[in-house]
Amino acid sequence: MTTLTLVQGDITRQSADAIVNAANSSLLGGGGVDGAVHRRGGPAILAECRALRASRYGRGLPTGQAVATTAGELDARWVIHTVGPVFSADEDRSALLASCYRESLRVADGLGARTVAFPAVSTGVYRWPLEDAARIAVDTVRATETEVERVTFVLFDERAHAAFAARL
Ligand code: ADP
Repeated sequence: MTTLTLVQGDITRQSADAIVNAANSSLLGGGGVDGAVHRRGGPAILAECRALRASRYGRGLPTGQAVATTAGELDARWVIHTVGPVFSADEDRSALLASCYRESLRVADGLGARTVAFPAVSTGVYRWPLEDAARIAVDTVRATETEVERVTFVLFDERAHAAFAARL
């Protein structure tokens, strides 16, 4: 049984076995969660991301997939980088957003992580509507078989927190 909990705040201040980063496919950092993870986590994370690019992801990490690095200075053992889809009004990309949560949990299981913190993937720069993103996030985590004991959704602001609370 996985327990789902909600927190409002900065995911880089969370303590968990694994913290999920809403990365972009370059793995080289960006704004939002990604910027905060690298800023607070320090250069070790970026160095590992660069190595992953050189070895396995020369074309970038595909949307919907996830990969782990160590967590640098963060209060976590690993950062799991996942690439959310950009929201599109013309094309249903929700399977890709669901895949981010499922694949992140699969990577967490591979590492032996028992507590995982997720941000609201794709709801920032990638513009996914919050209510729909909350539905996909909560329903996917609930439907995924995993050894992870606690999943914490870390929502940056009141609006995102309310959307996730409503779905939970
Ligand atoms: P994406 O590119 O996948 O949309 P963003 O990082 O731009 O990712 O935003 C994802 C969500 O994370 C947004 O709801 C944003 O408000 C929120 N967010 C931004 N910074 C942080 C942070 N430090 N901790 C938790 N959530 C954050």
